[in-house]
Amino acid sequence: MSLNSHIEWTDATWNPVRGCTKISPGCKHCYAETFAERFRGVKGHPYEQGFDLRLVPEKLTEPFAWRSPKLVFVNSMSDLFQEGVSDDYTVAVSQVMAKANWHTYQVLTKRSGRLRDLLNGKLKFAALKENIWWGVSVEDRKYGLPRIEDLQEAPARVRFLSIEPLLEDLGSIDLSGISWVIVGGESGPGARPMKKQWVISIRQRCEAYGVPFFFKQWGGVRKTKNGRELDGRTYDEYPRRVAAPVPDRLSCLSFAQAILKSFRGSPLVQVTA
Ligand code: SF4
Repeated sequence: MSLNSHIEWTDATWNPVRGCTKISPGCKHCYAETFAERFRGVKGHPYEQGFDLRLVPEKLTEPFAWRSPKLVFVNSMSDLFQEGVSDDYTVAVSQVMAKANWHTYQVLTKRSGRLRDLLNGKLKFAALKENIWWGVSVEDRKYGLPRIEDLQEAPARVRFLSIEPLLEDLGSIDLSGISWVIVGGESGPGARPMKKQWVISIRQRCEAYGVPFFFKQWGGVRKTKNGRELDGRTYDEYPRRVAAPVPDRLSCLSFAQAILKSFRGSPLVQVTA
């Protein structure tokens, strides 16, 4: 886990999966790929295998070790619902989130069809947990809007949209059943521009639906210079979070051991604790 994440809308990141493959225009300048590929071939580094998909079962029970409640971005360096991750492994990750319920988890995907199907099936036990927020990435109309529809068809308690990088005007988006919207522009070399009117339009839709709105950044090549103010203020709204105390260390340890025990012997998870 990385504590004190630099990502504006979370406290920490947790990556029981590493690596991914690109599937839509929003992936063009994937920061995770750029970061991971820097370490390809570096012996002993977590990203020795670059951005190739890899399950990291030894990270599965990490949330039980954190001593204060966190807002956790799950798989910031990957996508839990990509094809190469087995259903069993998504179940394992979800069991940890459901059990370690003093943290709030933000699960974000571009594979919205699989998210919908699993939340209607094997992940039903986790779908309605208030401490697990299920979200989809949206970058444009062609790829992004169908993802919103998939999410709306999933029986999630908390659904959110990460509209970043916003690449065009999304029009009158339907925010029925959505609990949170994040908007941001692309940053770094080659960043594609984002127009203010596109952002205002989404903010107005959020106001109309009563949905909390978080404006992450304007982005651009010089992200810090461009800042994150919109019409003279910042927007840092969130959905309601569940407050729960962290159990004592021994209880956390026995929860983690019970979870590991339930996975032991599964060839798809390959936990060797
Ligand atoms: S889905 Fe996300 S993690 Fe995967 S390549 Fe695209 S931007 Fe990167």
